[in-house]
Amino acid sequence: MEIIVQTKEMQRRAEQRRREGMIIAFVPTMGYLHEGHLSLMREGRKRGDCLVASIFVNPTQFGPAEDYNRYPRDLKQDLKLIQRVGVDICFTPSVAEMYPDGFQTFVEVERVTQSLCGISRPHHFRGVTSVVAKLFNIVKPHLAFFGQKDYQQLIAIKRMVKDLNMDIEVVGMPTIREPDGLAMSSRNAFLNQKKRKEAARLYRSLVKGKELFAQGERSAATILQEVRRIIEEEKSADIDYVKICDAHTLEDIEEIKGEAIIALAVKMGKTRLIDNIILKEE
Ligand code: AMP
Repeated sequence: MEIIVQTKEMQRRAEQRRREGMIIAFVPTMGYLHEGHLSLMREGRKRGDCLVASIFVNPTQFGPAEDYNRYPRDLKQDLKLIQRVGVDICFTPSVAEMYPDGFQTFVEVERVTQSLCGISRPHHFRGVTSVVAKLFNIVKPHLAFFGQKDYQQLIAIKRMVKDLNMDIEVVGMPTIREPDGLAMSSRNAFLNQKKRKEAARLYRSLVKGKELFAQGERSAATILQEVRRIIEEEKSADIDYVKICDAHTLEDIEEIKGEAIIALAVKMGKTRLIDNIILKEE
C-alpha cells in the first residue's frame, strides 16, 4: 500500500491510473476506522481496480464549540486496517496541505443541508461538501462510497455531484451496526460503559417507528411520539431532533407517502450521536 500526503502527488498517481484504464474507487474518511468504514472499502475493492481511501479530519466541518481537537485519531492502527482490506493508496494530507494560506473557496449545497443536522450545525455541510469536492479533484475517482448512516451527508453529496456535473458515481452503503444495534461511529469511543449501553436505545426507537409504519401507521406525529417516548425513557438522553422527512428533499412531512426516513440526533452526555432508518412500502 502506498501512503501519499501531497495533493500534487496524489493527482499525478490518479492520472496515471486513469491512463492505464483503471477504475478508481474512493472512500473518504476521517479515520479512527471501524467496520462501517471497512465495509465501504470492501465494496470499493470489488468494484474498482485502484482503491483509494483518504484519512483526513477536516477542520472546516466542525463548529468552533465542537470536538475537532478531541476527535479520536489513530493513524497507525488505521493503516493496518486498510492494508488488510486491500486499499492500494492511502491519501492522508495535513491541514496545511488541504488549506494553504489564502484558501477561501467553498461549495455549498443549499436546501437539503438546511434541515436536520443543518439547524444545530449551521456550517457543517458547507465544510463537508467543500472538502469532498476538493478530494474528488485530487483523487479523481470514478466511484465514491458513502454510508447511509450519515444520510443527510449522502444526499448533499449526491446533489453536489449532480448540480456541478461531476463525472462520479456516488454509491450509498448500508449502516453497519454493533450487535445491540448501535450504529458504528468513531464517536462511540467517547461513550463510557453506561452510556454505551444506553445508546442502543436509539436504534430500538427507530425499529419501533418502522414497525408502526409496517403496521400501516402513516401519521408522522404518531410515529414520532412513540420514538421520542422510547428515547426519553433514558433521562440522560438529550434530543437534538427526531424527525420524519421525505427521503429525497429532507423536508418534514406530516403524512408518510413514498419514501421517508426517521432521522435523529441525540446527545448522550457530551457525545452527539446520529442515526436513521428508511421507511418505504415493501
Ligand atoms: P467518517 O470517518 O465518520 O467521516 O465516515 C466516513 C464514511 O464512513 C462516511 O461515508 C460515513 O457515512 C461512513 N460510515 C460511518 N459510520 C458508518 C457505519 N456505521 N456504517 C456504514 N458507513 C459508515
